[in-house]
Amino acid sequence: MFEKDLQNLDRQHLLRRLYVATSPTGPTIEMDGRRVILLASNNYLGLATHPSVVEAALGAVREFGMGAGASRLVSGTLRPHMTLETELARFKGTESALTFVAGYLANLSVIPALVGADGLILADRLCHASLIDGCRLSRAKLRVFRHADANHLETVLKRRPAKQRVLIVTDALFSMDGDVAPLSDIATLAERYGAQVFIDDAHGTGIMGPTGRGSLEHCGVESRFPFHMGTLSKAIGCAGGYIVGDSSLIQYLVNTSRTFIYTTAPPPAVAAAATAALRVIEEEPDRRARLWKNRDHLFAGLHRIGFHTTATVSPIIPILIGDADRAQAMSRQLLEHGVYAPAIRPPTVPASTSRIRVTVTADHTTNQLNETLAVFEHVGQSLKLV
Ligand SMILES: *Cc1c(COP(=O)(O)O)cnc(C)c1O
Repeated sequence: MFEKDLQNLDRQHLLRRLYVATSPTGPTIEMDGRRVILLASNNYLGLATHPSVVEAALGAVREFGMGAGASRLVSGTLRPHMTLETELARFKGTESALTFVAGYLANLSVIPALVGADGLILADRLCHASLIDGCRLSRAKLRVFRHADANHLETVLKRRPAKQRVLIVTDALFSMDGDVAPLSDIATLAERYGAQVFIDDAHGTGIMGPTGRGSLEHCGVESRFPFHMGTLSKAIGCAGGYIVGDSSLIQYLVNTSRTFIYTTAPPPAVAAAATAALRVIEEEPDRRARLWKNRDHLFAGLHRIGFHTTATVSPIIPILIGDADRAQAMSRQLLEHGVYAPAIRPPTVPASTSRIRVTVTADHTTNQLNETLAVFEHVGQSLKLV
């Protein structure tokens, strides 16, 4: 039935497939029966398999079973959910927090809760797909500003109709580019033009900032944004999304957010695991130190070989290739040499900006990184990319 569509995708080098891992995620992974170096996970701090996180999940399964049994508002709010939300608010220094089954689901309904059909959304051109979907669901008018360009945002803000409610939407740390939004400038513009800001810090949570509180801490702007969103599924190593902010916002979302209300509560074990992961982030800062040391080593090495990267400032290191077929060929050759780094192609990124997206973690050893660099140099030369 869909063969033609699939053949079309394949011809354009845009067909995707699932890689099945037969081991836990980590610095290496067993994939299709082979152990390879994994440069394709958001488990930046290795918490997905951390003993305290695993034990917390097992303990909660024993105490509370697997499923929550109902949505949060019916009877699905169990003690681990409340503990996690209290701990998240404390970690982030806000009054309250609310968690969702996924970051995607948080974005789908929090944006429509903040702005409706009579409002205006100004979104960064490279916003994550879940933000774009949330914007569309709100039915607000959507305008796009140039990526990470506060000057262009101001130009667009100046053209807004008088008295219209405006919501600025941006990733904090961009998932496909690894750069950070100009959050301080955005705060200034929001104050000047009376706009609200919805920030998605899915990738920054746990790794950015001196204590890992995220990209807002990294930019020194925590006090300038009354709320923001993040996930428990990347550095925190579990699953879920969250909003932190003042209690009135959280209560409002409990009453209006459709993806909070009309879905079964997350398994309590996931909440317990995420709570344990937050504690590890605070108690083991050396993980963050190792992550950044690894990031700097790999970044410097890739540049020394001659690769071009985006303007990344994070453990997400995208190597720009251009055409989808070349990016795909490079990813395939890397895998043949025992290194998995995916080719990211349209529609995930704009046309002609296909890339190899490398992500590094705290648990990669120096030997693994040096082996990675040797493979990249070999493959880069054979494809005449360096
Ligand atoms: C991964 C990601 C999400 C979705 O989070 P999940 O918890 O995986 O659903 C949302 N926004 C951004 C920027 C992301 O990178």
